[in-house]
Amino acid sequence: MRLCGQGRLKAALIDLKTERNRRIPNPDQIIIAGAGIAGLTLALALSAKGFQVQIFEQSATLAEIGAGLQLSPNATRLLGRLGVLDQLKNSYVEPQAICLHDGISGERLLHLPVGEQAQQRWGAPYIVCHRADLQNALLNKARSEPNIAIQLQSAVTQHNSDENGTLVRVQYHDRIEEHRGALLVGADGVWSNTRNATSDLDRARYTGTIAWRSSVAVDELPNDFAALMPGGTNVVAWTGANAHLVAYPIRSGQMINFVAVAPDRQSARRDTGAPETPSQDFIREFGNWHKGLQDAMRAGLPWTPWRLFEMPKCRFQIENRLVLVGDAAHAMTPYAAQGAAMAIEDACALAGTLGKDNATWQPALAAFAHNRNKRIAAVVRRGALNHLAYHAKGPIALARNIIMRNRPAEKFMSDLDWLYGYDAEAS
Ligand SMILES: Cc1cc2nc3c(=O)[nH]c(=O)nc-3n(C[C@H](O)[C@H](O)[C@H](O)COP(=O)(O)OP(=O)(O)OC[C@H]3O[C@@H](n4cnc5c(N)ncnc54)[C@H](O)[C@@H]3O)c2cc1C
Repeated sequence: MRLCGQGRLKAALIDLKTERNRRIPNPDQIIIAGAGIAGLTLALALSAKGFQVQIFEQSATLAEIGAGLQLSPNATRLLGRLGVLDQLKNSYVEPQAICLHDGISGERLLHLPVGEQAQQRWGAPYIVCHRADLQNALLNKARSEPNIAIQLQSAVTQHNSDENGTLVRVQYHDRIEEHRGALLVGADGVWSNTRNATSDLDRARYTGTIAWRSSVAVDELPNDFAALMPGGTNVVAWTGANAHLVAYPIRSGQMINFVAVAPDRQSARRDTGAPETPSQDFIREFGNWHKGLQDAMRAGLPWTPWRLFEMPKCRFQIENRLVLVGDAAHAMTPYAAQGAAMAIEDACALAGTLGKDNATWQPALAAFAHNRNKRIAAVVRRGALNHLAYHAKGPIALARNIIMRNRPAEKFMSDLDWLYGYDAEAS
């Protein structure tokens, strides 16, 4: 049975209303703005080192409908160490391969084995899961840690930091609270107030592209879709001129998560709201694609649009005692499927850098920012390359197809060693 409308929303909702508001009144605590993937991972990594952590999260509930995530070994090795991978085990899928196909003919261009081979080569699994499942696993683990306090419906609105610490103002219902910490970490996502409060920083900019997302129960897909996604357990990306489509299993393989990336035809409207284009219209963008793929897209109606923004400049350290992680530091396009992975890496690298004596933090934070800047720049370059390859047209697409068909899979795998083999805690 297909989960739709409210059912799907309910399934993806993590009800945080029951969260007890524990508070740790301690000027040595580390304050985190945002309980997303970056904020919760950071809290767990800091708590493992004995730090007291206070998270402020503006929402009462965290929800994202129909959104899947690919998590590569550079992220799962860190989640494994934090004990989060075990909690996710019942819901994630370990695909056997990552495949690239032609969107018009459906022909397979590339087959990269992951599964057992990813574990052997990069030392951790390549997995796909629902974002809400990951967030739930992180949240459950954080709730079980006595060093971590989470206060909901609490937006961090202002902060002042100097070399001794940071004073944070939090809007809690109709009052403003003040909290002191040794460090404020902005893990508050692409619209980061922590980043934007410092006026000279560049804000996220619109890329003119929309990611359309949908999840469909396997038994609601057209019968011939199985031939286009053999085995049903691989990550498959279909390429086309200016657009691509990705599909992979989530929720223990009961559903297929789809992401279709295409230009925003109403790009004159560059606000942050939902695009005006009705969901069924965007499928016209794929009008010359393989019929089986168009039928699968229709089975996924209505799709949820997600405008793609990116940070023009990656920034980690803003002031002495103010650091950014995750999308707040470097929101990026999803072509390398690394945004959440980088948030997890940032969190573990930051926790690994902080010693107990906060007099040592300044050089440590500067080194953290330097290392992470280099890593993020390399990942952003990889995303730009994937973008070119996925959306190529004409002779460039023909050349791409020849290379993909003929280059040994081992060469593609070794090209990924720097990305998937990376250990953010050891670097
Ligand atoms: C279409 C698409 C596909 C993607 N696919 C992948 C993928 O396959 N693999 C991958 O690794 N990544 C992927 N990503 C990227 C990934 O989803 C993000 O990079 C990741 O979720 C960022 O996590 P975050 O914790 O930094 O931010 P968020 O998840 O946005 O969390 C920020 C949190 O801060 C809270 N907040 C905001 N402002 C305040 C405030 N002032 N005070 C307190 N709290 C606040 C918010 O409510 C939220 O809970 C994809 C992204 C898109 C758009």
